[in-house]
Amino acid sequence: MQSGSLRLERLTKRYAAATVVAEVSVAIPSGQFFSLLGPSGSGKTTTLSMIAGFVDPDEGRILIEDRDVTRLSPQYRELGMVFQNYALFPHLSVAENIAFPLRVRRFGNAEREERVTWALDVVRLAGFERRLPRELSGGQQQRVALARAVVFQPPVVLMDEPLGALDKNLRYQMQVEIKEIQRRLGMTVVYVTHDQEEAMNMSDVIAIMNHGRIEQMGAPTDVYERPGSIFAGKFLGEANLIEGRIDNLRSKSLAVAGGTILRASRAIVDEEIAEGAKHFVRPERIAVHAANDATGEAGSNRVAGKVARLSFLGNLVRYGVDIGAGELVTVDAQNSGRTPAFGVGDAVTAAWRPDDAILYHHG
Ligand code: ADP
Ligand code: MG
Repeated sequence: MQSGSLRLERLTKRYAAATVVAEVSVAIPSGQFFSLLGPSGSGKTTTLSMIAGFVDPDEGRILIEDRDVTRLSPQYRELGMVFQNYALFPHLSVAENIAFPLRVRRFGNAEREERVTWALDVVRLAGFERRLPRELSGGQQQRVALARAVVFQPPVVLMDEPLGALDKNLRYQMQVEIKEIQRRLGMTVVYVTHDQEEAMNMSDVIAIMNHGRIEQMGAPTDVYERPGSIFAGKFLGEANLIEGRIDNLRSKSLAVAGGTILRASRAIVDEEIAEGAKHFVRPERIAVHAANDATGEAGSNRVAGKVARLSFLGNLVRYGVDIGAGELVTVDAQNSGRTPAFGVGDAVTAAWRPDDAILYHHG
């Protein structure tokens, strides 16, 4: 596969008074799986449509392998595309669907056949070439769409919510499969999704979009563990944001209800906060102990509370621990076979390391 790099430079799109994509700049090296992740309306599809050439940017440039394609019409950009509604030709067989981009590009019979066979093999659909799309499951139809997108070996493949129509289990299976194909072929992929787990599972780099801007960009573990803003932290998973007053900014400590001091390892200015400050920690980084149990790491944050809620989620038990003043801290405990260890009303201590916490404040 002739994979290529993709660069966006201050890409901007406005509709009337609204700026829906604002100065998006990214450099995606060849072979990278890059995701645009954000809520509905954050500008993901518009960004992808500008890369594809369906939407003209108002400002900025798009470069594929250092070639400026900003004003080039879509068919000359040579990009592979996969969308949620598979967009297969219903009256064409699987093989004919996959061969379509090769016909458009006037590949000869022999090479066309060879490439279709290769693409069918890549998506594990050998033997299905004569079927019509309606004779396939949703997952199989999406694999045909994928084969059709890669059969002419484009430098970059664009995917917009390609798994959105599939149920949860099949979705996960297809995530693994697409990722495996991408890695094996060394494909450069720009992937659009609003699904956090999907983005984390598949991507080398995630760009979190919010109101047309890239709010944060990085490897999945980086953005999950060190969200640069409250928005990013909340969007990527469950997040506790405990309110309080700054006790000491240098030690990144917050005073919460009852006078307890919570320490964090980093402090970040966040414009969402008008006054006070918030202490961030993920639910799975908190341990619950019995109230009088002093186990736990030295230097940990420790807060006394009462179990106010308990949800059984299968693989884990989620506690809502009331730490006073209406603050409910969410704690996820693995369902190891001995849980739930605590019941509603039990007095407990919630404990976590400052290393797992971030202080967001208004500067
Ligand atoms: P996403 O894919 O993240 O859900 P979109 O890129 O589709 O978001 O849309 C971003 C914003 O741009 C939305 O507010 C949407 O209503 C607006 N928008 C998209 N296309 C058009 C258009 N052709 N005309 C006017 N507004 C548009
Ligand atoms: Mg969209």
